[in-house]
Amino acid sequence: MESCKPGSIADLATLANLDGKVLLNELKVRYQENNIYTYVGDILVAINPFRPLHIYGDEETQKYYLEKKSANPPHIFAIADAAYQCMLGYGGRIPQNQCVLISGESGAGKTESTKLIIKQLIELCRGNTQLEQQILQVNPLLEAFGNARTTMNDNSSRFGKYIQLIFRGEHVDGAKISEYLLEKSRVVHQNRGEENFHIFYYMFGGLSAEQKKSYNLLPAGQQRYLTNGADCLRAEPTFFKKQYEELVNAMDLVGFTDEEEDNLFAIIASVLHLGNVTFNMDDNDASFVEDENGPVKMAARVLGVSGEELVGTLTNMVTFTRGEQIKRHYTKAMAEDARDAVSKALYGRLFGWIVNKINQLLAPKEQSSGEARQIGILDIFGFEHFEKNSFEQACINLANEQLQFFFNQHVFKMEQEEYVKEGIDWKEIKFVDNQPLLNLFLNKPIGILSLLDEETHFPKGTDQSLVEKLNTHFARNDYYGKAAQSNSSKFTINHYAGKVTYDATRWLDKNRDSLPPGVTEMLQSSSNALVKLIFRGQITRTGTLALQARKSSRTTRRSKRPPAVGSNDGGRKRKQTVGGQFKNSLGILMERMMSSSPIFVRCLKPNHIKVPGKFDEKYINDQLLYTGMLETIKIRREGFAVRPSFAEFVEKYKIIVCEAALPGTKENCLKILKASKITGWQIGKTKVFMKYYHLDQLSDVFQRMG
Ligand code: ADP
Ligand code: MG
Repeated sequence: MESCKPGSIADLATLANLDGKVLLNELKVRYQENNIYTYVGDILVAINPFRPLHIYGDEETQKYYLEKKSANPPHIFAIADAAYQCMLGYGGRIPQNQCVLISGESGAGKTESTKLIIKQLIELCRGNTQLEQQILQVNPLLEAFGNARTTMNDNSSRFGKYIQLIFRGEHVDGAKISEYLLEKSRVVHQNRGEENFHIFYYMFGGLSAEQKKSYNLLPAGQQRYLTNGADCLRAEPTFFKKQYEELVNAMDLVGFTDEEEDNLFAIIASVLHLGNVTFNMDDNDASFVEDENGPVKMAARVLGVSGEELVGTLTNMVTFTRGEQIKRHYTKAMAEDARDAVSKALYGRLFGWIVNKINQLLAPKEQSSGEARQIGILDIFGFEHFEKNSFEQACINLANEQLQFFFNQHVFKMEQEEYVKEGIDWKEIKFVDNQPLLNLFLNKPIGILSLLDEETHFPKGTDQSLVEKLNTHFARNDYYGKAAQSNSSKFTINHYAGKVTYDATRWLDKNRDSLPPGVTEMLQSSSNALVKLIFRGQITRTGTLALQARKSSRTTRRSKRPPAVGSNDGGRKRKQTVGGQFKNSLGILMERMMSSSPIFVRCLKPNHIKVPGKFDEKYINDQLLYTGMLETIKIRREGFAVRPSFAEFVEKYKIIVCEAALPGTKENCLKILKASKITGWQIGKTKVFMKYYHLDQLSDVFQRMG
């Protein structure tokens, strides 16, 4: 055991006596000494320093290079090193796919950790290839389009991502990014004090006057989509320009053509123009565009569609009844919704296309030989709890529940079940199981997402009828609370990380996420090749899934007539809802994670105000409590993280007893264990149960043997 001076313990699982107070104090002292990283057994705890620490340079890169974990202080690079070595089966392990799961609140440091892990992984597998450089450039690209300044984080990821690095032997051979639930609503609306996606500002900072003119761009201060959340725009032209240059550089390196870049900026510009389109109503409540020669014309021009057609799709709907054409005018509010829906679709599909494009460019080479293994890194949006919480927050928080569940499964449940099954000496450690919360969201047919889908498809369904259904079905659910007022659109969920009150206003719309009739056809006929491309394929789908589904759905497009919103289009499979899509992609993600060996990184946020040096004890303590950190430490201290089968163990360590051929029996395991003189292990019915630090100890013995 290490010395007992507070803050000197790199691995909290080695502390014999630990309660909440001791834990908090250890972390505090370490944090104040700039030791932001601490181990809990094989889990890394990272506390955001909110200032640049010079601990990610060459020196550290070398230090955490194919090393034993115990050789160096805790560090995020050690996680990369461990993942890499485990994947390859170094140090007596079985080669296996790895996934690094990074969790924490918004602004806790997940995305920075992800970047650092990728940086170090590339150092570890270094072959000085172009692919390696491209992988490193993916981040500035994704962040420009997918991140935004929020009250929680100046560079908040507004989408979740799972990055898979694919290796052949020791070298990286490709990468794949899966994105989850881009917060498209941010394009058209931002809460007070928040911003739109970075790209909008970078563009103003970086485009030449000529380029701006070619997109007819008005100054940033005159763009409604940029000013509705902010009292005034952040005036940081030099910073924005620098970011823009970095972005364009990244786009070039990753392999975007000039034409693609030009088309891409045209789409962003068109979104801004759309944002400035305003409507009014005539005496018959029929909406019209206020200034037909104004922004709507600009939008049409940069989008490469006819101005007349754009005005038409924003203000009225044409339906066909028995061959007859009927025009129905929208109200002002409907026209505004139509406008915003088009903007969101343009942006969302553009983002999906960017991710798709990156994936094509970084795809592993088909002719590569040898077995591929991978390291996945999950950087998903942290738990969110704002004053106003909507559908987006519900999805984000559900993802966090799912992640916590996976953590619990791995760290507590499966492990303890195995101890019992294998009959080793074990006293049960209790943990807070959040299965009931997952059930509340995911059960069929009575779960929040299923009920939401039901209301979404039900012609008479409304946000209010949804809340009523939830209130009725979950009246006796401990994790659900209905609002005190009877006709409220709100309800409360008691998440593992705390209570969140949601407002169901617009949930059906958001779940449906449909485009006004005629829009898709209009955009498919655009003279901007990129607009045309991203709206090709199945009309009813949006985002990445649509892009992935494109190949198979291209031939199914038949009707030139605009389908009515939410219609089944002549018996075609019902359009998948946003909630349904999200549920599916979460399921796929969980499967991927279940089939790899997980490594956990827990990011903690030291204070709400994003400043260095301030360790808010209560805030940190809350995070430690809801993530079950004390229980985690306990199970890491008492549990057995390494559990090879008898055969695996004997195969790896027979050299310790100087035998070349030895059957994988229990007796032989015992023989090796005794010869190695390590202590604290147990032996089960089919496996050896070892502490995570035994691996290092065994490899020491190994080395001494020569
Ligand atoms: P999250 O992805 O969890 O929402 P980020 O990774 O974006 O949070 O971190 C938020 C901010 O905190 C970063 O923009 C950066 O300023 C700071 N930060 C996070 N991790 C570090 C670190 N290791 N060193 C220095 N600053 C950091
Ligand atoms: Mg992030």
